Amino acid sequence: MRNYVDIASRVKNLNGPVELIGTVHDYPIYQIRLASSAAAPVPILLTGGVHGDEPAGVAATLQFLERDNTELLKRFTFVVIPCINPYGYVHGTRENREGVDINRAFDTMDVPEVAIVKKAIAQTQFSLAIDFHEDYDATGFYLYEGKRDEAYIGVELADAVKTIGPIDADDPGEEAPEIAAGVYKVATEWGTQGLAPYLLHFHSEHVIITETPTIWPLEQRVALHLGILDGTLAFC
Ligand SMILES: [Zn+2]
Repeated sequence: MRNYVDIASRVKNLNGPVELIGTVHDYPIYQIRLASSAAAPVPILLTGGVHGDEPAGVAATLQFLERDNTELLKRFTFVVIPCINPYGYVHGTRENREGVDINRAFDTMDVPEVAIVKKAIAQTQFSLAIDFHEDYDATGFYLYEGKRDEAYIGVELADAVKTIGPIDADDPGEEAPEIAAGVYKVATEWGTQGLAPYLLHFHSEHVIITETPTIWPLEQRVALHLGILDGTLAFC
């Protein structure tokens, strides 16, 4: 079992306003807003831990929150939900306690984690949303991108982080159109069941799902996620 108390204490030690957006089976779900006082641009949403057995996404959001973002905060505002599925995180399960894959339930309101996230972001439009994931079968990284104007930057992003680790050679098998090796489109056929497609439809003109192979060391996976984030911000 992973320790969620460590996550909660790292969140509470941050220098920013931490908001408790909900509690599921006694596990608090947090949202942190990072903004400089001067600028208030349209925020960027970062999410991790939708799938509980993918810890690098949680680690990436926390590492991002704990690092010095002074320069970025001159240009950007961030809303971060580090762990959407704390029960799954603690118990190492993809699904929540009820066995629901939260990332296939965003077209409903009867899954508590989904309802909490939807309510938290209900009034907010984002310029970009990145949802950090992992893949147990992959040997390299890959990403999905959805962009309303279809001016995709995924190929450049993949190129920018390939020094951290290789692109996965295999098709992820999610029936997503391939843009280039390791870069796939968020498919319209997915509807709004997944978090990223839901955000693309209702809350964000640009979404990215990053996928790291769990066989890599945790630090390498975190570096890849943050490399994609920083690469994307360089385009914004
Ligand atoms: Zn996942």
